[in-house]
Amino acid sequence: MASHLYRDTAVVLRTYKLGEADRIVVLLTEEHGKIRAVAKGVRKTTSKFGARLEPMSHVRLLLAQGRELDIVSQAEAVETLAPMLVDLDHLTSGIAVLEAADQMSLEREPQPHLYRMVVGALRTIAERSGPLVVPAFYWKLLAAEGVAPELDACVRCGEHGPIVAFDMDQGGVLCRACRTGAPLSEEALELMRMILGGRLNDALAVPASSTTHEVAAHATRALEHHIERRLRTVAMFESH
Ligand SMILES: [Zn+2]
Repeated sequence: MASHLYRDTAVVLRTYKLGEADRIVVLLTEEHGKIRAVAKGVRKTTSKFGARLEPMSHVRLLLAQGRELDIVSQAEAVETLAPMLVDLDHLTSGIAVLEAADQMSLEREPQPHLYRMVVGALRTIAERSGPLVVPAFYWKLLAAEGVAPELDACVRCGEHGPIVAFDMDQGGVLCRACRTGAPLSEEALELMRMILGGRLNDALAVPASSTTHEVAAHATRALEHHIERRLRTVAMFESH
């Protein structure tokens, strides 16, 4: 029986070894969601795929549908990976984006929006990087999942007065009287409002400081909180 062939574009999320010469590549595709595929002979020096199937690679693929794992038949680079590898900062940011995307994507469930966000974030890192690229990606991911934090007013009492804390369990920011969660500075709140309120480019131009560190810490906690909750929900669905 001839196997079904299909084309798609994808970002390589991670790879692992299979046998002596092969590798399994975990792909976030544009149209087919997360796919696991075998790249045969990829670890030989004569591999026809060369270095095109490394994590962060953006590739156009021809895949053959398999029973469990698909098979990579052709791979062609959409853009060069080189700018991601110029320094450790780019690399670390790129890996953080891939990890988040891996956690947020589901096998064979198309999420073209997530794919586009990942490609956009990797391009931004390649072009200019900066301390808020990854945190901004996390906030945008949460917003795309419908769980953007409330940043305008205290989530418990609706007060617009001084905001002093952030708590993802509560769904956003809190005033002095209602405070739970982690302390939130006025400057960090302003940056978070910029990121989620349509001034992303201004936020990405901000140089590293204790405030960008704070925003990054809140973003990481918020994403972890969401993933944990989401993983539990998925596990629940699967057991039913
Ligand atoms: Zn309040």
